[in-house]
Amino acid sequence: MDAGHEVKLLDAEFGPMKLDAIISETRDYNPDAVLLGHSGSTSGHPMASRIAQAVRTVLPRTWLVYGGVFPTYQWPEIMEEQPVFDVIVRGEGEETVVRLMTALEQRHELEKVPGIVLRPGIEPGPRRMTDEWQSGTGRARATAPAPVIKNLDANRIGWELIDHRRYTYYGKRRAVVAQFSRGCPHHCHYCGQHGFWRAWRHRDPVKFAAELARLHREQGVELINFADENPTADRAAWQTFLEALIAEKVPLVLIGTTRAGDIVRDADILHLYRKAGVARFLLGLESTDDATLQAIHKGSTRAIDREAIRLMRKHNIISMAACVAGFVQEEDKDYWRTLRQLLSYDPDQIQALYATPHRWTPFAIQQGKHRVIQTDLSRWDYKHQVLESARVPNWRVLLWVKGIETICQLRPKSLLRMLAHPDRLFRAGMRWYSNIGRRVWIFEIWQWLFFDRRTEKGPRLAEFLKGGWNRVTSRHSVGVQKPKVAGRMPALPVLRSQ
Ligand code: SF4
Repeated sequence: MDAGHEVKLLDAEFGPMKLDAIISETRDYNPDAVLLGHSGSTSGHPMASRIAQAVRTVLPRTWLVYGGVFPTYQWPEIMEEQPVFDVIVRGEGEETVVRLMTALEQRHELEKVPGIVLRPGIEPGPRRMTDEWQSGTGRARATAPAPVIKNLDANRIGWELIDHRRYTYYGKRRAVVAQFSRGCPHHCHYCGQHGFWRAWRHRDPVKFAAELARLHREQGVELINFADENPTADRAAWQTFLEALIAEKVPLVLIGTTRAGDIVRDADILHLYRKAGVARFLLGLESTDDATLQAIHKGSTRAIDREAIRLMRKHNIISMAACVAGFVQEEDKDYWRTLRQLLSYDPDQIQALYATPHRWTPFAIQQGKHRVIQTDLSRWDYKHQVLESARVPNWRVLLWVKGIETICQLRPKSLLRMLAHPDRLFRAGMRWYSNIGRRVWIFEIWQWLFFDRRTEKGPRLAEFLKGGWNRVTSRHSVGVQKPKVAGRMPALPVLRSQ
């Protein structure tokens, strides 16, 4: 908008919108370019692809531009096998998209726009596609990588594009998802965040606090859900932000994700966290075994994880522990140990996730010879088992995961905190999670029983990730065919697209 383009935001995930509605709104608007992105990493790609194909049928000469984590890493396969996309934006897109739109409009050479991949036959100029484009022949070409955005404050968020009254979370509070920092200085081997963002950076802490305060005063926003991978990585910057937000005197509630090590590091300023409004942090504990933590390069230990939870409790901040199941070599005794350790850590809430081998992670390379039991990419959402477990059948992994969730959430200590914790915000957060968690728990079992399709003797992961998902056929299928439209239950908040 600031570069002189007319922009309309269609939030198709809200609802979510039906494909027909997405297409009819897009057709009525008839834009020169459709920019398609999603927050779902691998799991968001199948729907993005369906939308793009449907848009192409009604707007045959509109530019289709695709960006985000999945296309950034997976562009060769996408361009080769799904040539519906004209341009892919690699990496963070704010500056690249403006350069791209300017080049298209002013007929500059597209090859000079860094950070993009071009489908063959694309020429600059409004809706100019050549015969080569029509036939889809030739190889996609990638330009040089775009420079990392140094000043995150230089690209403002277009808050005016959304109607804030529509978005609520955490107990019907008017909510926004905001980002103080991007990237992560750590290198957990199942995670692609450091590769996508390339460097950890943060916004100006005082300006960021003022922006959140303005959202509260002008738009009635009550809850900030941090999209950051790791907002607390720099203690000084984070402390400046907390103090600036406290000085704004706005009753905002903050929730997000961080690392246990940062909580322990900040033991002496955790009162500022609470005073600024931090109500809950999800800690990615991933494992309760020191050897596993070391193997996945988590950079934490059991002692740090346990201490972080204790400190958060002392400051009335809800601790949500994320643990990861579904690793190939796991045995029943590992799940038993996880349960015992989680009970001894005593987090207020837990979230069980499944190991998901996104192609661009070292974890996927390491697991290449193992079989995939979930070949539906839309189920690669951390809530479904993806890799075959060599020693525990899939049904028993599910029993363990659901059993661990039930035991941890229904133990007397947890119930007591939900009903009788002296802090009102703490009680409300516990109640909200319990209500939504109960529904999700039932929904996931229902889906597993009647809708999820798993494979027997599925393809090896390495083959599958080289585009083999297009070649998976029903001969692998067992269980019940899933319907065309999957369930509508909102997933619990999960680790960011990794
Ligand atoms: S899992 Fe979390 S801490 Fe590890 S690299 Fe990813 S964002 Fe960073």
